[in-house]
Amino acid sequence: MKEDLSNLDEKVEVVNSKPLRFEGSFSAEKLVLENGEVVADGFFVLKDSYPLTSLVPGLEVDGPHVKVDRNMETNIKGLYAAGDVVGKPYQIAKAVGEGQIAALNACE
Ligand SMILES: Cc1cc2nc3c(=O)[nH]c(=O)nc-3n(C[C@H](O)[C@H](O)[C@H](O)COP(=O)(O)OP(=O)(O)OC[C@H]3O[C@@H](n4cnc5c(N)ncnc54)[C@H](O)[C@@H]3O)c2cc1C
Repeated sequence: MKEDLSNLDEKVEVVNSKPLRFEGSFSAEKLVLENGEVVADGFFVLKDSYPLTSLVPGLEVDGPHVKVDRNMETNIKGLYAAGDVVGKPYQIAKAVGEGQIAALNACE
């Protein structure tokens, strides 16, 4: 589906050229396009993702999130989930903590 780009802020420049690769020494400094290049301090790549329900058949979800219990176990025994996929806040500290809980319970 084509995005409606008619209401963008005038400062936003829309570049319709196929991206080929990033270039840089330590980090991405330049995006090389089929016709030209973009030099910037940082780049965000947005890509399509699969719907949660297609990840694992029978996986119970709550809207955009996978349902888990306090042990981070899903409705499928032995299958654990942690981090952004199970809910807000979308923060690294939460993801790491939940990942640890999930790992410890999975080992047990
Ligand atoms: C621009 C930005 C800035 C942020 N800044 C902060 C910040 O300052 N502080 C903070 O605490 N949080 C920040 N966050 C949020 C933080 O990045 C996330 O909360 C955290 O990364 C969640 O970790 P995660 O392991 O759950 O998911 P992710 O880090 O997203 O990891 C999920 C991984 O699964 C992979 N994946 C997805 N689908 C599939 C599939 N079907 N098969 C195989 N692999 C798959 C993805 O490619 C990805 O590598 C920021 C997020 C963004 C986007």
